[in-house]
Amino acid sequence: MQFKYYNITNQNRRGGIFLSNIIFKDAKITKPEDNQPEQIKKIFPYISPVEKGDIVAIKIHPGEYGNTTHIRPVIARTVVDLVLEAGGIPFVTDTTTLYKGMKLNAPDLIKGASMNGFTHASMNAPFIVADGLRGGDGKEIEINGEALGSITVASAIADADSMIVISHGKGHPASGFGGAVKHLGMGCLDRAGKIKVHEVGRPTIDPKKCTQCGDCVEICPWGAITPPEIDHTKCCGELSCADACQQEAIIPPPDATDKMQKRLGEASLGPIKALNGRIGYINWVYDLTPGCDCFNFSGERFVEDIGILAGRDPVAIDSATIDLINGRMKPDGKSIYNVWGVNPWVHIEAAEKIGCGSREYKLVS
Ligand code: SF4
Ligand code: SF4
Repeated sequence: MQFKYYNITNQNRRGGIFLSNIIFKDAKITKPEDNQPEQIKKIFPYISPVEKGDIVAIKIHPGEYGNTTHIRPVIARTVVDLVLEAGGIPFVTDTTTLYKGMKLNAPDLIKGASMNGFTHASMNAPFIVADGLRGGDGKEIEINGEALGSITVASAIADADSMIVISHGKGHPASGFGGAVKHLGMGCLDRAGKIKVHEVGRPTIDPKKCTQCGDCVEICPWGAITPPEIDHTKCCGELSCADACQQEAIIPPPDATDKMQKRLGEASLGPIKALNGRIGYINWVYDLTPGCDCFNFSGERFVEDIGILAGRDPVAIDSATIDLINGRMKPDGKSIYNVWGVNPWVHIEAAEKIGCGSREYKLVS
């Protein structure tokens, strides 16, 4: 495995292959000095890409309004203060979404983040929407993948000097698992980039099942539906209509999930190239809900808390996280695949194949 685009400083070799060190702090703490902020303080020097004077993006997902299991503001605050100590200029950031909710445009996203506690006062840094007012602010980055030749990365992320990606490790209906790779290959893109990844999901309506109830019309942000027709020149394939249809009349193409995951994995190279690999990753693996933090509710946890992982390789940190989750689910004869019936390794392997990192890792504490 060659790391094509970036240098990982905390690597070692075993049997001729590079291993990325992934730091793991178990959720089962026994001492107050091992609380989550303190653990992050101990980890940070080993994963920090920050150089004095850097403008540093701290990428988070502040959660939809109604979701209460997203990362907590104190986690972002801890990283902000560490970046300041390292001489960086931090800002906390997220991007707009394709689905209707509190992240569809920048004012709503800032308001929703603040309702969930992510404010300048709580985090000690401003919250900036990285892709502009309506998601149209991005920079095209060549990635030369099998499915995607280029991808557009949100400008405020592409223009930063370095970045810390704080991901909530949890389930995801489209990718099985959502962690660092999902955060790079979707959360760091502008609207055009997100459409490129999602467009393989453009669905059709089965007229025999459709009752013309209009629920899908209501939820579609892009005015693409006149039941039983979907205008594919307007549809971006994000599939919130399929979730909303009680009749299961809205049907994505049969291989949409795998195709979307492959694009997602490839797209994750965009932010890595834009920042020349100067990215550190923290996976906060608590409150493992089946759904992602875009859901406006928090479902029942499918496995107990795992802990905090950190490293400089997004493929390795997600591989380690999935392995730890699967290890905890194994006694029940299950794995994360059983949560949605979606294989998360599809996007992880696509990210590895395009050169974002390695599935081989060494867990250190
Ligand atoms: S939600 Fe389903 S049943 Fe209702 S109009 Fe749309 S496709 Fe038809
Ligand atoms: S038609 Fe469905 S998949 Fe397409 S944009 Fe509208 S809600 Fe999303």
